[in-house]
Amino acid sequence: MIGRPTAAVLVTGSEILLGRTQDRNSGFLARSLDAVGIRLERVVAVDDRAEQLRAAIEELIASGVDLIVTSGGLGPTHDDRTVAMIAEATGRVLTLDEGALAEITSIVAGYAAQRGVPLDTLIPGARKQAMIPQGAHVLSPSGTAPGVIVPGDPTIVILPGPPTELAEVWGRALIHPALQPLLGAPLERRTLRIWNTPESTVARAFDELGGDDHGTETSICASRLEVEVVVRYPEEARAAGGRLADGLLARFGSAVYAQDDDTVEERVVADLASLGWTIACAESCTAGLVAARIGNVPGASTVLRGGIVAYANDVKSALVGVPAELIEEHGAVSAEVAISLATQICVVLGSDVGIGVTGIAGPGGGSASKPTGLVHVAVVGPDGLEQRLERRFPGDRDAVRTNSATAALHHVRLLLADAALR
Ligand code: ATP
Repeated sequence: MIGRPTAAVLVTGSEILLGRTQDRNSGFLARSLDAVGIRLERVVAVDDRAEQLRAAIEELIASGVDLIVTSGGLGPTHDDRTVAMIAEATGRVLTLDEGALAEITSIVAGYAAQRGVPLDTLIPGARKQAMIPQGAHVLSPSGTAPGVIVPGDPTIVILPGPPTELAEVWGRALIHPALQPLLGAPLERRTLRIWNTPESTVARAFDELGGDDHGTETSICASRLEVEVVVRYPEEARAAGGRLADGLLARFGSAVYAQDDDTVEERVVADLASLGWTIACAESCTAGLVAARIGNVPGASTVLRGGIVAYANDVKSALVGVPAELIEEHGAVSAEVAISLATQICVVLGSDVGIGVTGIAGPGGGSASKPTGLVHVAVVGPDGLEQRLERRFPGDRDAVRTNSATAALHHVRLLLADAALR
């Protein structure tokens, strides 16, 4: 085997192809394979029809991967046919595995007793699930279906579909001797999370720095206002990986807000905690999204005082203390009102830092001077520290509100960075 072992995942089930069930198993297996140094090359989803399943299995075997992991189709009924199809495709006969049968029988005997079902009605299903390709290894079930490892080239690991069962049986496969020759160390990696920089700008910088020409594998992934760059490399390409990541770090400098998997809200909570400061939010168009994201971080209770959803103008005045004349003069969506929301919420809730967000989330409500998507964010802190943003976010209501919350959190981060420098 040259380079890292390769794998394909085959997800089976009509419910997945009909869009009724969202596939959770391929993502789980992708992360797990990556963590044991295996390169996942393909994920294939196929429905339960015999011909489709057969074709997909044969194609993956012919594709030259070292490992195939399948999900689903191990149940007791006639349309659960993954094991039989793989036996056929690998030229192995199915034989009754007495050990597996005993194990499944004792599990279904428990179900039968619990539900008052006669055990003999469940035995044919148990016998079907205990039919194992000759020479294959049985993995103890988590539900009723045992997993199977079919040794060979490729090695095939057959797993049940329900995600918790799949995870448990996959855990057993990973410690089985038959899989050990395929397992290795994960790639090393450097992560850069970059704020407010177009993905294309990051991609251009990556190209200018030589791209992945020296053994690295880089992913650049934009999500709303943030871009995540992950540079991954085997030990022998560590120097190249370091050069690439350092080069990107030098180019994007202060826009890089994390060099690990931390989210901006995790950074904000950690930075507030290290300054010993608290925070409060007065939110109009985001209606609690900013506070909710801070509250999602474990340990938020030490820094988050609270928040007020100040949607209506009279709530902005009565509960937060924004002067009604200010709203009258500048309009609710204005820099002045955002600053007032941020300043007043510190007073009302007794925090060191205050956030004010006001904007037009749409789809209606915009005008020529204040179009849909226009948002004002203000963050204020002790000693005159202040951050402001006026920005028009594109997209639908959800995009405007989510981006506003992300922007607000980044402006808190910038304010806290200023505070730490003082
Ligand atoms: P069972 O013995 O329960 O029939 P099985 O191995 O035959 O298990 P399936 O019949 O394919 O698995 O799926 C059983 C249930 O598990 C599905 O109805 C679905 O709810 C869930 N499931 C299956 N595959 C996936 C998947 N890829 N992602 C999320 N859920 C899944």
